[in-house]
Amino acid sequence: MTLRSTVKKITGQDIYACQACNDCDIGTLTDMDIPLSSLIQLILLNDEEALQCRTLWSDSALQASRGACKRGLDLSAVMLALREESKKKTGE
Ligand code: SF4
Repeated sequence: MTLRSTVKKITGQDIYACQACNDCDIGTLTDMDIPLSSLIQLILLNDEEALQCRTLWSDSALQASRGACKRGLDLSAVMLALREESKKKTGE
């Protein structure tokens, strides 16, 4: 199953709706390694880096992700789903 399908199954959010507008960019805070919009693009590319980047585990990014997508994607739900997926893969 692709990362996009996994996210859709868990959250009902279809990342294909992302228009790469970068409106969700909140900058790269100290506990982030990539911008939030890049994390979304990694999901679209089915790139497992999405499960390993520091941004996924950033609490400030999670907080800022709430309501950040102007196209109506629930990015905080997406991040939480990815965290669970990452834990599953690493056996945590
Ligand atoms: S604001 Fe929404 S549509 Fe725009 S890049 Fe971010 S996730 Fe995609």
